[in-house]
Amino acid sequence: MKTILETIDPVNPESNVISRAAGFIKNGDLVAFPTETVYGLGADALRPEASEKIYAAKGRPSDNPLIVHIAQIEDLYRIADPVPEEALLLAKRFWPGPLTMILHKKDCVPKQTTGGLDTVAIRFPSHPVARELIRQSGCLIAAPSANTSGRPSPTCAEHVYRDLNGRIAMILDGGEVGLGLESTIVDLSVDRPAILRPGFITAEMLMEVLGVVETGVSLPKAGQKPQDAAEACRQEQDIDAMDQAPKAPGMKYTHYAPKAPMTLVQGDPEAVTGTIRRITAERMKKGERIGILCSDETADSYTEGVVKSIGSRYADDEIAHNLYRVLREFDEEDLTAIYSETFDTTGIGWAIMNRMLKAAGHRILPGEKE
Ligand code: AMP
Ligand code: MG
Repeated sequence: MKTILETIDPVNPESNVISRAAGFIKNGDLVAFPTETVYGLGADALRPEASEKIYAAKGRPSDNPLIVHIAQIEDLYRIADPVPEEALLLAKRFWPGPLTMILHKKDCVPKQTTGGLDTVAIRFPSHPVARELIRQSGCLIAAPSANTSGRPSPTCAEHVYRDLNGRIAMILDGGEVGLGLESTIVDLSVDRPAILRPGFITAEMLMEVLGVVETGVSLPKAGQKPQDAAEACRQEQDIDAMDQAPKAPGMKYTHYAPKAPMTLVQGDPEAVTGTIRRITAERMKKGERIGILCSDETADSYTEGVVKSIGSRYADDEIAHNLYRVLREFDEEDLTAIYSETFDTTGIGWAIMNRMLKAAGHRILPGEKE
């Protein structure tokens, strides 16, 4: 299949470009498009054979459900029943935006879209291209991240092209996305609302509206030092390791992973940089090529290895924005291993560390003082 790559204005999308892309969606074909979180791979959510094409193009396991994107709050009623009061409160506060809600689905939503579940994940994105595509196609659009399954999510059209060229009808290139991490997922199909995936809409923000929300991990307190994140990480590992069907089926798969195995090094900053330096030196002596993922504050302390900073440790939005790009850049370097510093887990730091842990397949080493 020839994939059409078309640039589009991310603020005022050209209607002729949208209309061509909408034509593919209406026809049951796949279109990748920018959202405020990451690029999505879209198909008509209510047509089983269209959803099946998404799984085939991504190589995604068929029990890993898709998020259905809508462009007006009332569309909740088209696909979910009941629509609880909490869903409306959250929608009014955070939509359009990076929040996905899990509700009980209506029969019109095919099991192919929900990975066989009776619930459906729903999001109203704020990106003008995503909104216009949904509106002009007249469809609700199922769209997981537009990457090959297991790879880091795409934050620009180039990433999508590399993973999916020849497998989908069209890519809309609206430049780099703003946020860079996938949406927060909150489950409202259960008695007590629960966060299934952390994101930019933080637990604190959800609690302001809902009163309580289950997090699955004990939430790091404001001002918590990075080394205390070890406990949160261990707890999260426990959730992922659970053998029972996980609540967010995506939790059980390796995700966001660069090609070279990555290990996180945890502890106070000097112990972390010292440990990464020591391991890098040892392994490079044996002829290996080592990547180091660090922050602006520590970049100068490494003299060997392929060193990449993902931004200042004090700017979590910057780290979120750069994470997947840097993970993909490492893939260009033909590395044998990557060692990464860890980051504060407060606020959106929880989402950042959640993705980094998955990218690292939960390999964590304690930083040790020399
Ligand atoms: P992606 O869009 O690639 O980030 O993947 C969508 C994520 O939403 C996956 O991790 C799914 O496990 C999760 N998800 C989608 N639908 C449901 C659902 N009905 N229940 C729980 N998790 C869901
Ligand atoms: Mg994904």
